[in-house]
Formats: sequence, structure tokens, C-alpha cells
Amino acid sequence: MRQVRVKAYADCLLKLTGRSLLRWEWMSALDPVRRAYRTNSVRRIKAYEGRYNPGGIRPMGVEIEFTNRCNLSCIFCPNASHRRARGVMSPETLHVLACGIKDLEIADVTIGGFGEPLMDAGLPEKLDALRAGAGQAKISIVTNGVLLNGAIAERICRGRLADSIHVSIDAEAGGPYADIHGADAFDAVVSNLKQLNKLKLQHNLDKPAVHVRYKLVSAGIRRYLRFVSVFSDIADAIHPYANLFQWPGSSMPKNGVDLSRRGIKLACGNLWKSARVNWNGDVVLCCQDYEGSVVLGNIREQSLLDIWNGDRIAKYRAAHLRGDFDRLGICRECQINTHVINPW
Ligand code: SF4
Repeated sequence: MRQVRVKAYADCLLKLTGRSLLRWEWMSALDPVRRAYRTNSVRRIKAYEGRYNPGGIRPMGVEIEFTNRCNLSCIFCPNASHRRARGVMSPETLHVLACGIKDLEIADVTIGGFGEPLMDAGLPEKLDALRAGAGQAKISIVTNGVLLNGAIAERICRGRLADSIHVSIDAEAGGPYADIHGADAFDAVVSNLKQLNKLKLQHNLDKPAVHVRYKLVSAGIRRYLRFVSVFSDIADAIHPYANLFQWPGSSMPKNGVDLSRRGIKLACGNLWKSARVNWNGDVVLCCQDYEGSVVLGNIREQSLLDIWNGDRIAKYRAAHLRGDFDRLGICRECQINTHVINPW
């Protein structure tokens, strides 16, 4: 898998150098630079809006939380500390959602959120229902990979239930893995991915594409190179991440680069392009709203299109276009809409 390796090295180099340049404080303090970034973010959003009106704005992607239960306790994730009720999406809720996805011709569906999708015993049936009900949408699963084995892995593969699987690993060996994820399941994940790779070869399947993730910030290059050597033969792509961000409103220890002074705040594309649906059917502000503190509507009560064009989200969008983040609760503290994390 030489190609995977070369791409993983190039990606790492690009991200580390690119992000270092973007973090230059003197640059982000210059008024013309700030204005250019802001104007560009508004222009792109206006272009996106223009594609859909007058039928109403539609998200191009939906992230679905099948469950907010998890089997790990990772240092960078607020799952362990969030206070909303824990549960699993019902088949009825998923059915309504799948119809909405099909009606709006949404292109991408991600199964993720603040839980581990494989903790949901009904996962294969739900993926079946999505395949049948959600039109042509591409389906991706975000998982820690610990439970991706046996009959479930075989069913996902042979049933072509997912186009891609994204595995958050972030470690090159058992010790660092346990430090980051709260349990040493490194060997189990490696073994599961080997098995998945074997299944795909045996049945001549190109899907699901397996993507593995690694956070560069805390680890450094040498450990990343070891990571690449472990996974380049069993993954289709390796994704290094150069930023760790602070969850807005969270009291978790800061585990990334402090962007509060260096980041230029931009109008956030998530408010237009990416809907987030929790296990109970609540459509919440975005992927950063781990407490579900801003509920835009519930898909059992309103159509996805109505929610996505409702008053509550409209208020947030208008404030973002004005560059007025100060009264917006979690958006005020969020770092996702900074030029360092989403530069273009
Ligand atoms: S700025 Fe942050 S909190 Fe606000 S919508 Fe964007 S990602 Fe969500």
C-alpha cells in the first residue's frame, strides 16, 4: 500500500506547515486579512443559499447519532461528561428521517455523533433501512473500531451497508492508546481492521473504504510514522489531524492549540450545510452541541426542510453573516468557525 503511505506523509506535511502559517498571530491581527477571510466566508455561504432558494435551504449532509452510549472514555471527547439522557434511536424515528433525507436528495449521511454506533445492537437493520429509504445518499460510519468484528463486520461488508468507515485510533501502540481512550483496545482494533481487509479481498469488495484517523498535535512526527507503518497495509486512507479544539462550553482540560486569540471568526458553513440529528430525533445546532442545548426542532414533529428553514436557525445564520458572535452562546466560544480550522 505504497500509495496510502505516500499520501499519509504528504498530508501530514501539508497540514503541519499550512496550519502553522495560519496560526501566525501577527497575520490574523491584520485588518485586511481579517476582512478578506470574512468576506470570502459570506460569499461562499451566499452562493450555497442561492443554489436552493426558493425551495428553502437544504443541508448537503446529515450526521445521525444512532446512540450516545459509548464503550470508551477518550480524553478529547465530552461523551463521558455530557448530561443529556442516553438512548438509542428508534426504527420509527429513523424511518421518518430516512424519508426526509430522500426527499431533500441529501448526498452524505454520517453515522456518528456522541456515541459509538456499534453499541447499538440494531445497527445492521438500521443501515439496511437507510440504504433502502434514503435514496442515493453515501453512508459513512464513524467508530472507534473496537466492536467492528465477527458477524457485524461481515454483514456491513457483504451487505454493502456503508460506503466508508472512519476509525478514530490516534495511537500507534497499546500504551498510548490506553492513555488516550481509557482502555487498551489497540490490538483488538488492529485485528478487526485486518479481518475487514481480508473480507474485502475475499469477496472482491471495494467498499466500505476504511479511513483511519490520527491526531498529530499531541503525538509528534515519529509516532505518526509508526502509526503509518502499522495501518498502511490495512486501511484505504490515513488522515492526520493537525488541530485539536476546545469543545464550546466544556470544562474539559484544554487539549489543543489555543485558538482564542489567533483564530479569525468566520460565518460557519455548518449552519447551512450540515444537519445534526440526535438519537431522540432532535435536530440540534451542529456537531459541537454535545449537550443538545440548541434544539432547532424534532423530526418526529416537523419535516427536516421546515426545521432547516425555521426561525431559530435563521437567527443564528443572520448573526453569523453579520459577524456578531457575542450573543450566540456556544458559537461565541466555538473554534470550528475559525480560519485555522476551516480556512477555505
Ligand atoms: S460556530 Fe461552532 S457552535 Fe456555532 S454552528 Fe458553527 S460549529 Fe456549531
